[in-house]
Order: sequence, then structure tokens, then C-alpha cells
Amino acid sequence: QCAGMVGSEMRQIMANSTPMLGTERGRGAGSKSLFGGKVYAQPLRDVWPDLDRKAPIHRWVTRERFSFIAGERVVTIEAKLGRSVAFTTYLPELVRWMAGRAEEAGALLVDEVVVDNILVKDGKVVGVKSGGDVLEANVVIDAEGVNRLLLEKLGLADPPDPRRLALGVKEIIRLGDRAVEERFGLEKGEGLAWLLAGDVSKGIPGGGFIYTMKDAASVGIVLRVSDAASAAEGGALKEHVSRMVEWLRLHPYFKRYWEEGDIAEYGARLAIEGGLGYVPKRLYWNGLLVVGDAAGLLLNTGYTIRGVDFAVASGKMAAETVLEAHARGNYSEAVLSAYETRLKSSFVWKELVKHRGIEDVMSDTWFFKALPAIIAKTVAKLFEADYEEPTMLEAIKEALEEEGTPLLLAAAKLLKAASQL
Ligand SMILES: Cc1cc2nc3c(=O)[nH]c(=O)nc-3n(C[C@H](O)[C@H](O)[C@H](O)COP(=O)(O)OP(=O)(O)OC[C@H]3O[C@@H](n4cnc5c(N)ncnc54)[C@H](O)[C@@H]3O)c2cc1C
Repeated sequence: QCAGMVGSEMRQIMANSTPMLGTERGRGAGSKSLFGGKVYAQPLRDVWPDLDRKAPIHRWVTRERFSFIAGERVVTIEAKLGRSVAFTTYLPELVRWMAGRAEEAGALLVDEVVVDNILVKDGKVVGVKSGGDVLEANVVIDAEGVNRLLLEKLGLADPPDPRRLALGVKEIIRLGDRAVEERFGLEKGEGLAWLLAGDVSKGIPGGGFIYTMKDAASVGIVLRVSDAASAAEGGALKEHVSRMVEWLRLHPYFKRYWEEGDIAEYGARLAIEGGLGYVPKRLYWNGLLVVGDAAGLLLNTGYTIRGVDFAVASGKMAAETVLEAHARGNYSEAVLSAYETRLKSSFVWKELVKHRGIEDVMSDTWFFKALPAIIAKTVAKLFEADYEEPTMLEAIKEALEEEGTPLLLAAAKLLKAASQL
């Protein structure tokens, strides 16, 4: 019993040997899915070795860009990668593909079914309830995503903390294959992942993203909910978030990338801010496992975001644990605890632990407001002088002073960030 994208993944693993039912509240797998656009491939290949040939991959990411935006000034760093480890796609397409693979293997997916409650009897999870229907199960795998209404009802997760959540808004701008390659400077089939910091989020912790799809650009912004709410209350943020995406779309530096393109879709969704702060009280319980976003498994370093591959990897570990329990005919908490052991020795947990200080960095507005301005001003001082250019150190010092940041403080902040990101 499970829901969503991770659900599709687990159905794939378990279908051959264990009766498996997945529920999805939307119409069809993937219908409720929305994300930025980039997926790390290897954890998915561990489940589907033919991923590269069969999955709905739009472009392999061969270039990464990062831009600091201060007004009309933009400083961009670009890396041409030696090796592609991630691809771009639309999440609904990927989820549909995963679900299809699972169904081919014999799993059952029921859509338009909202699970209202996880049922507990004598201290053990025994199934789920949807409307008047009860579905009994030896194990329920909760893959309900970021909005953990079911776990909250069980008392296993706290109500969402706005400091731990971000609001993402995105648009798909349709351009055509050739235009994507010409405008973004890509070879045929190549993809670009481009993250943005600074005025794109009005200095609020968050940022912007641009991913190249096959024939379109996925363009959006992400804002930390607590900061966006206090900026709105304090009057610093007057616009609706959709206007902020429009600001990016119309920005003089960026608009040439999608001029004459059509906005084909837009949407919004909550995301986990990243780090260990969203992990629920329990990852397993008597008859219950928690995976994906519901388990708080997302890494956002500011230059990369890993949620989909973490969700798939956790789904795989949950499926392996259930298969073991099934073989032993024992679904007790003690047997299901193997899931947490697996997870905590996996790359997913190691990544989250390694970057655990990230929340401090991500909640420091200096990185989102002052730093982009300091970088843009430094570059302007070096390149916009008519006669005498300052030395690099002079330019940095002047820019720091204009932004009210002592050199040592900036160095300390950057050092801290570098050790966590
Ligand atoms: C704006 C934005 C950009 C992002 N960009 C990226 C990116 O580029 N790369 C990346 O790897 N990650 C990205 N992420 C994160 C990524 O989307 C998530 O980590 C990932 O989707 C988690 O998968 P999941 O299956 O755990 O949850 P979800 O994808 O949220 O799936 C949960 C599913 O459960 C269903 N469901 C929920 N409750 C019930 C219920 N009661 N009954 C029945 N069904 C239910 C929902 O309809 C949904 O289909 C982004 C997220 C956002 C919001």
C-alpha cells in the first residue's frame, strides 16, 4: 500500500513476488507531480538498468550554470561537465513510466483514491481507509509526499513548520527543440541546469531555476515559506509569487532565451527546504514504513537539488525490507527496523548528515541578498571602469563596504557555507 512516485518504484520491485497495491489520489500516476526538472540517474538505474534507453529522458545535463542577479547586472558561471550524471524530464512523465513498468510486472495501481487514514489496531498498522473502504495490508508504505497529513494523524510527524518548507512556482515555456539548443548554446540532445540567486527571490532565501527540456524551458522560483510570509507581512514582499516568475521571464538578461515561446503550463507546489530537519519522528513502525519526501529525504545545497533520486532509493530500500519481512512472515517493528538500518548506511542519509549544517546557511538572508550584490558590484567595478580599474582586492573591499559587510565576516560566512554545501 503506497502512493505516488516512490510507490511506482516499489511496485516495480515487489510486483513479481508480493501482492502489491498502490493508491494515488490524482487521476493516473504522476497527475499530481511537479518538480524543477533534473534527476540524478544512477539511483534510478539501480532499479531500472535499462533506464537510459527506456525512460522519458529529455536531455542529459552536460552544462551547469549559476547566476547571481542584482538588478540588471548578472554574473554567470558555467561549467561544461566531463560526464553527465543527471537528466532532465517532466516528473509526471517519469512517474507514469515508473508506474507502467510496475504494472507490466503485475502490480496493481488504483487512482482517484484518497487515503484518509492509516488504520491502527492493537498498536499495529493494519491497512488504510479511503471513504467507506478499508484496504487491509501487512505493511503500509507511506509515500504521501511533503504534506504529511496521514503521518500527522498518527502523531508520527509534526504539523508543517514554515521554516522547513519552500514554495515552488514554475512555468513551462515551449520553444521547439532547435530553439532550445540554439538559445542555450547546447549541442543536440545536451541539457542545461541553471540555478539563480539574488533579486530573483527578492533577497528572500530561495532562488530561481531554469532547466532545458526537449523542446521547452522549465523556469521557476522557490521561496522559503517562513521568510516569504514575514516579508509579505512586513511589506517587503508586495507581489504575488506568480509575478516573481514573470519578473524573471521579462528580465533583460534572461528574456532572450524564451522570446516568442509559449507558456504551455504553470503550477506550484511545496518542497522540503532540505537537510535533516524534516525527518519524521519515526521512519518505521509496527506495519509501517515511510519513504521519499514524507520521510524528509531531500537535499538542497543551493546549487543542486536531490529529491527524486532520494525518493526512489528509499523506496527500493523499503521494498527490500518488505520482501524480507514477507519471506519471514513477520512484519513486526523489529523486522521492519531493517529499513532504517539500510537507509542510515546508504548514500541518501550520508548526504543529509554531511550537509546537515545547510539549514543555517539557507536561512541566512546575507547569501540571498548581500552576496549576489557584492559579486555583481565587484565585477562591475572591474569591468565598468572608463580609465582606472581597481585591483581585485580593492573592488571586493569597496563592494563589501557598500553592502555593509566587513571582509572577515564575509570570509567566515563563505567558509562556513563551503563546509556545508
Ligand atoms: C518546485 C520544486 C522543484 C523541485 N525540483 C527538483 C529537481 O529538480 N530534482 C529533484 O530531484 N527533486 C526536485 N524537487 C523535489 C521532488 O519533487 C520531490 O523530492 C519528489 O517528488 C518526492 O517524491 P515522493 O514520491 O516522495 O512525493 P511526491 O512526488 O509528492 O508524491 C506523493 C504522491 O502521493 C499522492 N498522495 C498524497 N497523499 C495521498 C493520499 N492521502 N492518498 C492517495 N495519494 C496521496 C500525491 O498525489 C502524489 O502523487 C522539487 C520540488 C519542488 C516543489
